[in-house]
Amino acid sequence: MVSKYPPSVDQLARSLKDTGLPHPLLVDAARLAISEGDSEDVQVRARNIAELMASSLLTDVVNATGVLLHTNMGRAPVDVTINSGRYTNLELDLITGNRGSRQDRVPLLLAKACGAEAAIVVNNCASAVMLVLAALAEGESVGVSRGELVEIGGGFRIPEVITQSGAKLVEVGTTNRTRVKDFAKAVTKRNVVLNLSVHQSNYRIEGFTESVKISELAELDVPVVADIGSGLLDAACPWLESGPPAWLRNEPAARQTLEAGADLVTFSGDKLLGGPQVGIIAGKADLVKACSSHPLARALRPGGLVLNALEKIVLSYLNRDGNAIPFWRMATLTVEELHARAEVINPLWVGDTFSTPGGGTLPGVEIPSVGLVVPGDYSESLRLNDPPIICRVVDNSTICDLRTVHPDDDEVVAAALEAAVS
Ligand SMILES: *Cc1c(COP(=O)(O)O)cnc(C)c1O
Repeated sequence: MVSKYPPSVDQLARSLKDTGLPHPLLVDAARLAISEGDSEDVQVRARNIAELMASSLLTDVVNATGVLLHTNMGRAPVDVTINSGRYTNLELDLITGNRGSRQDRVPLLLAKACGAEAAIVVNNCASAVMLVLAALAEGESVGVSRGELVEIGGGFRIPEVITQSGAKLVEVGTTNRTRVKDFAKAVTKRNVVLNLSVHQSNYRIEGFTESVKISELAELDVPVVADIGSGLLDAACPWLESGPPAWLRNEPAARQTLEAGADLVTFSGDKLLGGPQVGIIAGKADLVKACSSHPLARALRPGGLVLNALEKIVLSYLNRDGNAIPFWRMATLTVEELHARAEVINPLWVGDTFSTPGGGTLPGVEIPSVGLVVPGDYSESLRLNDPPIICRVVDNSTICDLRTVHPDDDEVVAAALEAAVS
């Protein structure tokens, strides 16, 4: 029987207990539903609000977009299983029993994996760049080519990062053409103490262009820092049996950039490295030391959970086991393998498609892939599935690219699509 009075907030909140949300959130949902007043059935409205709240919590999703590094879905997928409820030796040296540093373990492995003397790990590449500039050029001038004053998604803008670090930006050359003699002039005439080369990760300038190679910058008298961003460790991809995939094109890699003469490289952990969100600074030991002893290093240090996930990834690189790195495993699946999986789900839905690296890397690159192609737009019902499935809609067809779907989730996608279609 429906009461003619609004139910009490507490009573209404209690009736939503089965949504699994904690009571204070259910009280918010109940209050909101009651305050809207005009709703016919407060009970139904409150349940709706609670379900919306529940779906806004962090949860596993199935990425069927074919975008390997999808920023909305946390870029690279990582395994974060650890011994739950146990302590770790995060800052403990087990040999001596003394206090150690969290920067003694994974960074050493990373340095080995990319041929650097030393490395440190911070929260993301934006903080890596900021720390390098603060440690090496605070109050001093930094040279950057006008063609590399980039903005990366999410508000990372090189001129603003330089300002925040306390360094001063000296713009070098022009938007489309910058030569090494422009940098040389900036060093002698404008007291530039460090040159920063920034990878144009998410766009390309074509036509009448000229840019300065790292090896040319290395000839000048000041340190060269290369923000390569994408985190490819080694252009030869020794962790892949079949070598570097063609779509990597000329993506700069940490090892080769250091070999070409960069004193430091900075890159993200969750792009082509395929790890958790971190930023890595690798290169000359004295410069890395200057970074790690700067006060900002403490503010930007990553937590043990992240270092644990990163360590697993880096060990896989050192083991040359690309298959153990989810990003590389998915990125290198063959069209034949994907075709076979799609056939099992529904031969009528099998269709060719293209995956992309995503994450603001390799703009324009398409990786041939196979997916399920179903006429009609079922993106909403897939998104509201449990677990949520995120797909693409092209020309009013729903496309679930299987490259980015974990094979264990094929059945989930199959069932959700069947249900949506029927
Ligand atoms: C992506 C990128 C960044 C920012 O990296 P985050 O890890 O997202 O902070 C910085 N520089 C370059 C060149 C990039 O490609």
